[in-house]
Amino acid sequence: MEDHEFDVFVIGSGIAGQTVAKACAEKGLKVAITDNREFGGTCANRGCDPKKILLSAIEAYELSTNLKGKGISKAAKIDWKQLQKFKRNFTANIPASTEHNLAELGITLFHQSPAFLDENTLLVEGKKVVAKKIVIATGLVPRTLTMPGAKHFKESDDFLNLKKLPKKIVFVGGGYIGMEFAHMAARAGAEVTVIDTGKRPLHAFDADLVNELRKYSKSLGINFIFEATPKALKKKRKKLILTYEIKGKEHTIEAGAFFNTAGRVPSLVGLDLEKGKVDFNEKGVETNTYLQSISNPNVYACGDVSDKNLPLTPLSGRQGYVVAENIINGNDKVLEVPVIPSVVFTSPNLATVGYSEEEARSRYKNIRVNFEVATNWFNAKRINAPLYAYKIIMNDRTGEIVGAHLLGPDAGETINILTMAINNKMTDCEIKSTIFSYPSWGNDIKSMV
Ligand SMILES: Cc1cc2nc3c(=O)[nH]c(=O)nc-3n(C[C@H](O)[C@H](O)[C@H](O)COP(=O)(O)OP(=O)(O)OC[C@H]3O[C@@H](n4cnc5c(N)ncnc54)[C@H](O)[C@@H]3O)c2cc1C
Repeated sequence: MEDHEFDVFVIGSGIAGQTVAKACAEKGLKVAITDNREFGGTCANRGCDPKKILLSAIEAYELSTNLKGKGISKAAKIDWKQLQKFKRNFTANIPASTEHNLAELGITLFHQSPAFLDENTLLVEGKKVVAKKIVIATGLVPRTLTMPGAKHFKESDDFLNLKKLPKKIVFVGGGYIGMEFAHMAARAGAEVTVIDTGKRPLHAFDADLVNELRKYSKSLGINFIFEATPKALKKKRKKLILTYEIKGKEHTIEAGAFFNTAGRVPSLVGLDLEKGKVDFNEKGVETNTYLQSISNPNVYACGDVSDKNLPLTPLSGRQGYVVAENIINGNDKVLEVPVIPSVVFTSPNLATVGYSEEEARSRYKNIRVNFEVATNWFNAKRINAPLYAYKIIMNDRTGEIVGAHLLGPDAGETINILTMAINNKMTDCEIKSTIFSYPSWGNDIKSMV
């Protein structure tokens, strides 16, 4: 094989792309991978992991604040600069170690966005490369806001790297990223506003629990502006002013920083997919159940950028594995997705798995919905947690758990037990008869079903 010829060329070095590249190289295929940013992808460099590190101090602050006067004499104070330094210990080495691990497997690395020239040929770093299989694993990028002054918006990467926290911050978009950052910034001392075009934040999550979270967020000083359409962002000396419209009436809000948290879209710009005969839509690259492009069988897509994804790290990894298997063994693996938990890492967490109440109502004849604010339960009272609530949805005929929604400390962990329960079609009786450790959040599930 010539230098510029590969068995597999992977575009994107996140969890999905790395999984494919490593598995194929381990099977002896000649593999190349490219990234137009630092290697390692979103999750490790500028997503889940750095976010969760920042959250560690926020949680310590939250716990010490709640226990002030109950064994804690002085609540903790967030040192943002120190926290950023702590975070960098984890993130700084990711690109180099990712490159090192890939290169050690004999994988050729490129550092640019490639562009398709035809179905099997790419132009990258000025070279024409030919590959039997091309894998698109380019993830998502923030949705571009199109309004005058949009260039003044910062993005999630900027928030995670903020050296100094501005006094006033506005998040445009109340999805999970906007809400998580709003919670962090408010705890770290900023005056925070969340603006959304909808009637409430987190529309993909249970309305009753979101309502509880919204009320609590307001008590932290987070200001919400709903049904508002941002119109323009102006810079006046050091000040930024956003004009937005509610029911045809113009309003303005001023802040030190405005963050675009209005969702993320497939990263496909510049790849010249038309030349590669790769069809795509607003969800991503159009794929069949093997995650193979429906229009060009030499191309696969996996991770956030495939049209089969819920943009979450564990699912991207799973998709990378499916694509690797299909390249190595010739389409023998269909993407099968079990129920997947999803967590908003606000403090406390909002976690969800399985059907929403509306979905369950439309699928089952009779459902049982157990919804309760459980702040007076022992586990919550022990740490003086201001918020603890749940909604468990069961098929009333069989007792099978079909949806679970938790709001409370460590809900992001407890939801994993409910995920196993739903995947294994467990019933309320089976959960009640399980012996869990006590006292623990997990044990509370027995009282929820
Ligand atoms: C702030 C934030 C918080 C998140 N928190 C969580 C969480 O708590 N839990 C969770 O499960 N998920 C979370 N996610 C989502 C998670 O990060 C993604 O689902 C996951 O990283 C997707 O992996 P991937 O490999 O598909 O894509 P990515 O990790 O995005 O990798 C794609 C790679 O492709 C590169 N690329 C893009 N375009 C091109 C191009 N044209 N040419 C070459 N390279 C290109 C990118 O630079 C990137 O390195 C979060 C995301 C963000 C932004």
